[in-house]
Amino acid sequence: MTVTETDIATDFEIVIGLEVHSQLLTKSKMFCSCSTDYAYAAPNTHVCPVCMGMPGVLPVINQQAVACTIMTALALNCTIPAYSKFDRKNYPYPDLMKGYQISQYDIPLSNDGYLIIDLEGQQKRVGITRVHLEEDTARLLHHSGYSLIDINRAGTPLMEIVSEPDMRSPLEARLYMQRLREILVYLGVSSGRMEEGSLRCDANISVRPRGQQKLGVKTEIKNMNSFRSVERALAYEAQRQIELLRSGQPISQETRGWVETKGITVSQRSKEQADDYRYFPEPDLPPLVISPAWVEELRASLPELPDTRRARYMRDYGLSTQDANTLTEDKALGDYFEQVVAALPAQNRVARARAAANLTLNDVARLLKAHSTDISENLLTPAASANLLDLLDANRITGKQAKDIVEEAFISGKMPAVIVEEKGIQPPISDEGELIRIIEEVIASNSKAASDYRAGKVNALQALIGQVMKQTRGQAKAGSVRALLIKKLEETDQ
Ligand SMILES: [Zn+2]
Repeated sequence: MTVTETDIATDFEIVIGLEVHSQLLTKSKMFCSCSTDYAYAAPNTHVCPVCMGMPGVLPVINQQAVACTIMTALALNCTIPAYSKFDRKNYPYPDLMKGYQISQYDIPLSNDGYLIIDLEGQQKRVGITRVHLEEDTARLLHHSGYSLIDINRAGTPLMEIVSEPDMRSPLEARLYMQRLREILVYLGVSSGRMEEGSLRCDANISVRPRGQQKLGVKTEIKNMNSFRSVERALAYEAQRQIELLRSGQPISQETRGWVETKGITVSQRSKEQADDYRYFPEPDLPPLVISPAWVEELRASLPELPDTRRARYMRDYGLSTQDANTLTEDKALGDYFEQVVAALPAQNRVARARAAANLTLNDVARLLKAHSTDISENLLTPAASANLLDLLDANRITGKQAKDIVEEAFISGKMPAVIVEEKGIQPPISDEGELIRIIEEVIASNSKAASDYRAGKVNALQALIGQVMKQTRGQAKAGSVRALLIKKLEETDQ
């Protein structure tokens, strides 16, 4: 069964809340000095008695992790309390080295924020219940008949962002995830890589007859590792719950896993109650006093956030919503665009910025994709892109030549001006008189195509443009040729 948004019944309302976990980009782990840079390390090489949960060891709070969490909370419009604390969350599971996780229970690092999503031009506010800090678990690797454990991940700082159940469709949940990821990447606190598990999403979802106040029984969905799977899993689960209710069957409160290959959710375990975790204050850590001065310092250090950048691109550079969105969603691409703009002459900034946006979104993005190159390894520097735009602006090259030059500059890392020089590319014919003379010749010697065009066969124009381009050996601008050709054809149409 594949379910799309439009299949979902309108007589039921869907209620979704998301719990997002993000590993923080700190150098060391949450409570010890082990390095968090273990992605390519051999198993169990980034470990010490603290993150292995040996008896008698004492955890020490990673200040950078607290700073990252507060910055995220501030970007999500949360309130930061003057005092916070860590708690033990007890549950027996083989990936939990101590038999408990150090997390935060009743006094998290922040609460009561919101995030704005854009629903086809409508702004919708999604409440943020809290942003808190905890530690990641080890990783289990299951084989047939036995399992292995890699403790490298154990104790990595993990930030949890809990939303209010404010989302009303799988699409809203996806938009929320996308916006949240953007913010985390802009803040530099998360790699934002869902496919690698450094950003994870669990969803609580229930349905209720439209108009009913009381929430329905919810299920929790896990294992969604892309924006697309978040949307698909929730669409499937909503439909499953609605069908159960329609046929008079109860929904059991449980945790379900999303099976990407089959496009279904399956029951994993019935939901433990919060009480089962036997939370209590972590006795090995002092309470955390958060000075308002430090919070203000962190607030002042926040970088420009995606919404501000998006609005600035539209306001200052006159970019379309779509272009501004694309350049904002991919921060590195947006940074590149800004570096190109900065390298261009200041006068006529808006028109130049638009040209820079087109070049970045069309040529640069296309070439990066075609050559599977990461933007950090891009040989076509912003200065080279600006140089290409200068050459176009000065009518030194045609748009068609620019396409070839950008390709070569991307591969060789040469400046476009150097390529023009080396290849002996002649300036385009800017002398209109010369161009008109060639056009008249072409019309005269292609009288059939000319009369076809006059008889309404628009396609004939293309053949004539081709002839003129051939005569000028590609040195004429296609736009001017086309305009002059039409003018001449119509003038002589007596
Ligand atoms: Zn350690």
